[in-house]
Amino acid sequence: MAKITLSNLAHSYAGAPASRDDYQLKPTIDHVWDDGEAYALLGPSGCGKTTLLNIISGLLVPSQGRILFDDTDVTALSTAARNVAQVFQFPVVYDTMTVYENLAFPLRNRGGSAAYVDRRVKTIAEMIGMTGDLDRRAHGLTADAKQKISLGRGMVREDVSAILFDEPLTVIDPHMKWELRTELKTLHREFGHTMIYVTHDQTEALTFADKVVVMLDGEVVQLGTPVELFERPEHTFVGFFIGSPGMNVLPATVEGDTAFLGGHAVPLGRAFSHAGADGIEIGVRPEFVSLSDGDDGLPIKVTRVEDVGRHLVVRTDFDGTEVNVIAPEGASISDRHNRILFDPQGIHVYSDGWIVDSD
Ligand code: ATP
Repeated sequence: MAKITLSNLAHSYAGAPASRDDYQLKPTIDHVWDDGEAYALLGPSGCGKTTLLNIISGLLVPSQGRILFDDTDVTALSTAARNVAQVFQFPVVYDTMTVYENLAFPLRNRGGSAAYVDRRVKTIAEMIGMTGDLDRRAHGLTADAKQKISLGRGMVREDVSAILFDEPLTVIDPHMKWELRTELKTLHREFGHTMIYVTHDQTEALTFADKVVVMLDGEVVQLGTPVELFERPEHTFVGFFIGSPGMNVLPATVEGDTAFLGGHAVPLGRAFSHAGADGIEIGVRPEFVSLSDGDDGLPIKVTRVEDVGRHLVVRTDFDGTEVNVIAPEGASISDRHNRILFDPQGIHVYSDGWIVDSD
């Protein structure tokens, strides 16, 4: 297991065939990823997740910067020399070998004793739900089963620096996805590997990871625990991308402890005297917005009510902008609800997308 340090890292595909000329992994990536933690690398398609993962694994040499595993500079080392295990989106298995042999391969390759190999293969086979298939040849198995073997092979070695997963559940049956994710989490708790898991699915990221690294356009916009991402999104994109529905973001002006939205005053509960005048938005999650039939708050019109099981998602229109509200299950919503109130505790102020601290 290793602590991974990314120092002044940047990458550009400029000049490479099929590259987006403007694509750049920004030189702002300066992070320490702690030893033994499970990270999810989350972001929309094309934001650079695979690029960053490949730089960490050694499949890609960055244009700039260094990667350290603990105190060793591994920037010039191959994947094998970095001692990382990798699981890709599509299965990598030896068709002519049995499931047992496939799982045992990475261990035998490094000279593990027969008893140790046997014990470890059986533990992993149980985890991926393939105990009954150990003697079957991989050839002829479904893509789903083959991917489970790939996952098993990625996790079978205990002595790796890190295990890297690139959208490993894409081909897995939705039913099995949940189970495997939970198993991965259990395995992580048990063995404490440093794990990095690339996904564009927030549920996958939040259930798997201790910490989530959110990327947008080649930039890491936030690295934090799921709770931190929920409670204090450092960028409007994080608030919007994480949550169901995501954070409401509304253009505003801020004067001291009050925001003004289209001429309506909204108390912020604390002052933001250095928020500036331009490019200001306020962000408030639907969990911190309530409907009112009184005279206070912003005037809205309810446009739709969705019952999502545990609560209601109420879509409202404020001056042409949709504002979502989460209301308790069973609440009766009617036309008399023509105002919304924001809980000041849940309001954040953003300038050019980035969070502004209060005074
Ligand atoms: P996805 O979720 O779709 O896999 P991603 O977040 O993993 O996306 P990357 O695959 O890292 O994103 O790609 C980031 C950008 O770099 C994209 O615009 C992509 O077109 C470009 N890119 C990726 N690999 C190469 C390459 N080998 N040569 C040129 N450009 C590339």
